Amino acid sequence: MSIDEVPRVPLADGRSIPQLGLGVYKVSDDEAEASVSTALGAGYRHVDTAAYYGNERGVGRALAACGLDRNDYFVTTKVWNDQHGYDSTLRSFDESLDKLGLDEVDLYLIHWPAPKQDLYVETYRALEALRAQGRARSIGVSNFQVHHLDRLLAETDIVPVINQIEVHPLLQQRELRAYGDAHAIVTEAWSPLGRGKVLAHPALVAMAEKYGVSTAQLVIRWHLQLGLVVIPKSVTPSRIAENFDVFGFELADDDLDTIASLDSGERVGSHPDKVD
Ligand code: NAD
Repeated sequence: MSIDEVPRVPLADGRSIPQLGLGVYKVSDDEAEASVSTALGAGYRHVDTAAYYGNERGVGRALAACGLDRNDYFVTTKVWNDQHGYDSTLRSFDESLDKLGLDEVDLYLIHWPAPKQDLYVETYRALEALRAQGRARSIGVSNFQVHHLDRLLAETDIVPVINQIEVHPLLQQRELRAYGDAHAIVTEAWSPLGRGKVLAHPALVAMAEKYGVSTAQLVIRWHLQLGLVVIPKSVTPSRIAENFDVFGFELADDDLDTIASLDSGERVGSHPDKVD
């Protein structure tokens, strides 16, 4: 698998993002360093971390050692809920850059809207300033519901290029995906494998067997064919490679229809209106 085979999804600000990346949630600094190094060696060029994950230093060590040009890999990080507000977001961004050992991140996201604090508009203003400085090349949000996006679009200047939300076959997020399509906001799927829980679903297991792929590969392929950006997590080298080997087969329309019918609205993560 060569990097040229990973499609890039265009963003509304003129940039683009590799459609498949590595997630590093619940991974220590040392594990992040190892898994990012493995992933870059396997051809991944996109890493998704966050201040909250506590592993930006480990990610940064792997990037520093990888020998790639800065423009050949894409790094996302996020501001955590306890740093909302204009000044604290700017401070948190500086800390993230310092830990990552980078001058710029490719994508900076508000991790959750944290609606009780009611500071996400102010927080987003800080992201707009960081983008104007060029230190955040692109800016976006995560876990925003339609009503949060409506308000952000009404009260700020730059439409977020991405909304990173929980998406997997049991939670397909049709309303938010349609909203994204209508406003040129790319949908990025977190917990794309439902934290591993969807991998035992009998219909998916049977379908994967038919294609001669693993259930994880089938589900990642489904995300890609929906046009989503997808960031499966693994720290196991063989799985990191397996999750990247998804460009040599294509799901037929009737199988996409079957997966579409599995949506049960079941979350593996928290509801965005309840996280503060
Ligand atoms: P995921 O859906 O990617 O599942 C990961 C788990 O699936 C692994 O821990 C492993 O148990 C299993 N797995 C992975 N590859 C496998 C394979 N090939 N075969 C069998 N099992 C396999 O879950 P996730 O880590 O929650 O989500 C992915 C990434 O999304 C995170 O690492 C993080 O970067 C991001 N994320 C963002 C938010 C947010 O609020 N923005 C929330 C959760 C996750």
